[in-house]
Amino acid sequence: MQVWEATIGLEVHARLLTKSKLFCGCSTEFGAPPNSHVCPVCLAYPGSLPVLNGKAVELAVRMALATECRVQLHSVFARKNYFYPDLPKGYQISQYDRPLALGGSIEILVGDRCNSVRIHRIHIEEDAGKLIHDASLPGISGTNSLVDLNRAGAPLIEIVSEPDIRTADEAVAYLTRLRQILMYTGVSDGNMEEGSLRCDANVSVHQPDAPLGTRTEVKNLNSFRFVGRAIEYEIDRQIAELERGGRIVQETRLYDPAAGETRPMRSKEEAHDYRYFPEPDLLPLRLEEVEVESIGQTLPPLPAARSERYQKEFGLSVQDAEALVTTRELADFFEETAVRSGNPRLAANWVRNEVLRVLHDTRLSLEQWPVDAGGLASLIALIQSESISGKQAKEVFEEMSATGEPPGAIVERRGMGQLNDPDVVRDAARRVIERHAAQVEQYRRGKTGIFGFLVGQVMKETGGKARPELANSILHEMVDG
Ligand code: ADP
Ligand code: MG
Ligand code: ZN
Repeated sequence: MQVWEATIGLEVHARLLTKSKLFCGCSTEFGAPPNSHVCPVCLAYPGSLPVLNGKAVELAVRMALATECRVQLHSVFARKNYFYPDLPKGYQISQYDRPLALGGSIEILVGDRCNSVRIHRIHIEEDAGKLIHDASLPGISGTNSLVDLNRAGAPLIEIVSEPDIRTADEAVAYLTRLRQILMYTGVSDGNMEEGSLRCDANVSVHQPDAPLGTRTEVKNLNSFRFVGRAIEYEIDRQIAELERGGRIVQETRLYDPAAGETRPMRSKEEAHDYRYFPEPDLLPLRLEEVEVESIGQTLPPLPAARSERYQKEFGLSVQDAEALVTTRELADFFEETAVRSGNPRLAANWVRNEVLRVLHDTRLSLEQWPVDAGGLASLIALIQSESISGKQAKEVFEEMSATGEPPGAIVERRGMGQLNDPDVVRDAARRVIERHAAQVEQYRRGKTGIFGFLVGQVMKETGGKARPELANSILHEMVDG
């Protein structure tokens, strides 16, 4: 048995959340009728010229700063030349040897281990159009394809990691954190189904102490699950190949989710020579130090920092803290509930367990759900003051979730509420003792098992509202004498 170590580096493309495309004014709206968001620039009509979208640059800088990259004040757009029907110009405008940003990092968490994955570079580029090969569409036979150029020219950033990732789980953890950062900062909507986040995985294996092995690049990974599975498959395949005495060729492979395997797409020999050169229709991108600084000042607190704060300040476990920072909306909701209720741990339990369960079951977003942080905080206050029992709290919660009614109103309307007033409970106990003198006498003579009966009678006398521990201690006080 030989020992193998895997090495993984990810190339992630994220769609920037701008209203218009990278070099023209066309809308970036998703799902519009095919070829309705196009113009001479993104259709590459002769004589049309690109104009850089300032908002896209700002968003790209935001992401660079959020991942601790060094923003290059001078970067250069380049033409990446290749022929494909979804690329009207015959080249993609990208950045090559002078990218927007270099040298960042992201902390990831797998189990209890925290690792750092370095980011090699972040650059800005335009997206290509979309080919539709679906023979079931009207007017298309099996051999034809359609081209939708709505996406052509949409703004992207490519985030290239160093080969610092060791397992499929680490790759998924890296992607998860990266997506959270993109969404927290408003740089991208992170929507994988709509293609706003796309990932290629570079995978190699080697023996300990040996240099890194030859890598393959796996494409077509459009869900976190597929990223994990494809990497696992590729690691196993490479190990099997090497142990059989074969060798790994540098190539691009395609993941087939249905078959659960990767297949060769093109080898290094067939690889394109992109003939990169500086884009003559655009000036180099020059940024001022102060511009970059002012973008940095608008960054919100990021998920890793928030998670750490919840652990330190509120004493939450890593798992609880991480579950609460999955989205910025959820983290905001939790923090407001924690502050308003004055009980962060109870707030964390309710948000992590009950709120997430209801959102999952009803398929509502936090925004659509009728309860706000103030409502949940009031419920927690009722539990803390022991005005209602834990069981009643669950019922009130269900009703709040359905109607949005404040918990106080529900408790009142349904005559809920625990009886917590010792004088009232003592009066009830006095009546029970009078009525059941014989049983009290038996108890006093040593038949202690009958005490439970007496507590039950006090509960009954108070309509089930007396707090059981209170009824218990008051009865003891009165009959133990
Ligand atoms: P290219 O531009 O040809 O794709 P890069 O040098 O930019 O090549 O590398 C692309 C990705 O491959 C990076 O994410 C990098 O971390 C990763 N990578 C480089 N070498 C290896 C290796 N031996 N094993 C796994 N991943 C690697
Ligand atoms: Mg690559
Ligand atoms: Zn256009």
